[in-house]
Amino acid sequence: MLITPTLSHLIDGQIVHDTARAQPVFNPATGQSNLNVALASKATVEQAIASAEKAFPAWRNTPPLKRARVMSKLKVLLEDNADKIAAMITAEHGKVLNDAHGELQRGIENVEYASYAPELLKGEHSRNVAPGIDSWAEHQALGVTAGITPFNFPAMVPLWMWPMAVACGNTFVLKPSERDPSSALFIAQLALEAGLPPGVLNVVNGDKEAVDALLHSATVKAISFVGSTPIAEYIYSEGTKHGKRVQALGGAKNHAVVMPDADVANAVTAMMGAAYGSCGERCMAVPLIVAVGDEVADKMIEGLKTEVAKMKVGPGTDNGNDMGPLVTQPHFEKVKGYVDQGVKEGATLLVDGRGLKVKGHEDGYFLGPCLFDHVKPGMVIYQEEIFGPVLGVVRVKSLDEAMQLINDHEYGNGTCIFTRDGEAARHFTDHIQVGMVGVNVPLPVPVAYHSFGGWKRSLFGDLHAYGPDAVRFYTKRKTITQRWPSSGVREGAVFSFPSSR
Ligand code: NAD
Repeated sequence: MLITPTLSHLIDGQIVHDTARAQPVFNPATGQSNLNVALASKATVEQAIASAEKAFPAWRNTPPLKRARVMSKLKVLLEDNADKIAAMITAEHGKVLNDAHGELQRGIENVEYASYAPELLKGEHSRNVAPGIDSWAEHQALGVTAGITPFNFPAMVPLWMWPMAVACGNTFVLKPSERDPSSALFIAQLALEAGLPPGVLNVVNGDKEAVDALLHSATVKAISFVGSTPIAEYIYSEGTKHGKRVQALGGAKNHAVVMPDADVANAVTAMMGAAYGSCGERCMAVPLIVAVGDEVADKMIEGLKTEVAKMKVGPGTDNGNDMGPLVTQPHFEKVKGYVDQGVKEGATLLVDGRGLKVKGHEDGYFLGPCLFDHVKPGMVIYQEEIFGPVLGVVRVKSLDEAMQLINDHEYGNGTCIFTRDGEAARHFTDHIQVGMVGVNVPLPVPVAYHSFGGWKRSLFGDLHAYGPDAVRFYTKRKTITQRWPSSGVREGAVFSFPSSR
């Protein structure tokens, strides 16, 4: 009988087997599992935290340039192993290989940015803030930091977090998604190969038990979280209650406004990838079109129906496919349930992806692209994040009405406007209550040297992920004021508040 291997934890540079609790990892294209993932106990997480705590003093004192060199080496190793990592992502997440490569490349760009840490950590210096007194501000590492990541970008989101955290001198405990855990663990092993000392980065696989052990540990100083809004809110409230710095990025419901003057053909093409890429399982996916006027709505619908009919859905291992399966059977059922709900609520289902069967992959979690017209703001399919290949068109009469809808929505992650009117675009970018905004750019995901984050219930905390905000998040500012009085000169006491008056 074949024994299913179990993916374990990486602690202090070693694989640690705590497999008392484990669960299967499925290949969504086949519905089969040939791997289990261990679910760490509290004791195992505490072992990982202790390892990070032990590694911290030496790592903190390692010159930033030496820490950065590890990132530079890791970048090369990630590029050398890109095919292997992309294959791991596709086998567990289901996304098409090309898309997995795209995700990894975005992750590599974060590693590249982390290699600029010596420059980013330089701080500020002022000479002679008062006679003979100099002052400077420096960014000091926090200590043990942690990250909890979602299934939908199993390689990239961990790379948003720990490379900059460790480049700033912290040590780290990562808890990847239990649904597709292999790539994060493999990348952590590459980091060891790149020269990261044992204990600087530890990986614990697990579920709520592992997350709670991180949240409740007094040693963990900061937590980065990316996932759904209910869990983000829990992480934020529980983490801050336990005295930690927390950034918790949550869910989304992104709207694309299509103005009457938009280049409709290009807007249709852009929306195809934005709505259906990665099977809609992106927090920056665009599941809603807000068409300004019936004329542009009708044209968009016609164009979308034609393009959707051409889409190829099948296993992600075949780059000829546009879309792979959904991540798990329960998620498939949930997304299908939303389509049923949309029909019940009275939206017009123009393209129905339910019932799709992919030949040779009958047990895979495949749902074909779905397209709704006449979606209304009161509907559940308008309000809630579906996280699947379901695109809805909402019809409005004016840009103001479109903006009001977006501003009233509980989420504020991303949005975009398709228009040729600069004045409308400027008004939109100025007044829309959303963190990441595109103008004729459907997925305005900031590059690695800008920061990523939404507004409203898409982000709990103050600082965004990666980019310059990550340096702020993973460091404490210390401002030092210094003078060296001449020896032997007696000075009188000064009782007034020191100032330059
Ligand atoms: P999720 O919230 O189910 O899981 C995220 C992480 O939280 C996982 O590591 C999981 O193990 C852990 N977790 C789950 N339930 C928990 C609980 N009860 N207590 C403690 N920890 C728990 O999210 P997901 O389904 O893996 O990912 C999809 C979600 O992530 C979507 O809502 C998507 O919008 C969001 N997301 C947001 C961003 C962003 O930047 N805003 C990026 C990617 C994904």
